[in-house]
Amino acid sequence: MELKNSVIAITGAGQGLGQSMAISLAQAGSHLALIDLNSQGLEETLQACTDFDTNIKLYCADVTDEQDVEATFERIVDDFGQLNGLVNNAGILRDGLLVKSKDGVISKMPLEQFSSVINVNLTGTFLCGREAAAKMIETGCAGVILNISSVARAGNIGQTNYAASKAGVATFATTWSRELAKYNIRCVAIAPGVIKTPMAAEMRPEAIERLEAMIPCHRMGETSEIANTVKFIFENDYVNGRVIEVDGGIRM
Ligand code: NAP
Repeated sequence: MELKNSVIAITGAGQGLGQSMAISLAQAGSHLALIDLNSQGLEETLQACTDFDTNIKLYCADVTDEQDVEATFERIVDDFGQLNGLVNNAGILRDGLLVKSKDGVISKMPLEQFSSVINVNLTGTFLCGREAAAKMIETGCAGVILNISSVARAGNIGQTNYAASKAGVATFATTWSRELAKYNIRCVAIAPGVIKTPMAAEMRPEAIERLEAMIPCHRMGETSEIANTVKFIFENDYVNGRVIEVDGGIRM
């Protein structure tokens, strides 16, 4: 896909990986629909893209809210007249053990802690992917839907909710690639390892140290390394239905 003058939506674009992807795609000449709950973050991303000659619009929306998502994609197509790409990037962490015990069970992961992560990471990706596909089909646009999974999709202690959601979004990409190929829509997932973002900063320092020791590259990834992979996937028309692992070689 030619990035110049394409229209790409990015969820969770107000900080971290989403912001880095926005800068890289704007630099490549894509017009951007930036979606996030955090309007201040969206403004910051817009400011970071002012050097590039592209059209960028901000949409404050909650990816878990079906009506909000439907209205947002409606507005995107009204504003730009087309949609060629979506990066399903919005995601949250609410880590905790399934069950904690010390001389008997002392706590269990609350259903709300489980559901909040499933709602944003899995349901949000489903809703945005569904609306993006519908709009691409309605407007006759060839396109790419890219889901941000995680190395945790293989399973990780303390991440019942997150790991399940990230396994789910990887499977969405495989399923959608098969369903949507006839409309010239490719679907791919990226499974990043540990990347230096505000989300990673929520991890305990000792957990980061332990993780870095386990990474064959001996460091966390840079946001630009994920943004480069996003660009590569958009530009390479033969990448489809796969999960691209960008994790410094870590295996969980
Ligand atoms: P981040 O810095 O926390 O940014 C996530 C953005 O998503 C925030 O701006 C957040 O807004 C927004 N968001 C949260 N819930 C939302 C909702 N319901 N609707 C719309 N926007 C919402 O995260 P990140 O580290 O850049 O990670 C981005 C993606 O990469 C996530 O899917 C994450 O799981 C995945 N990932 C990250 C890493 C890593 O090491 N960082 C590794 C593997 C995978 P608020 O600030 O208002 O909540």
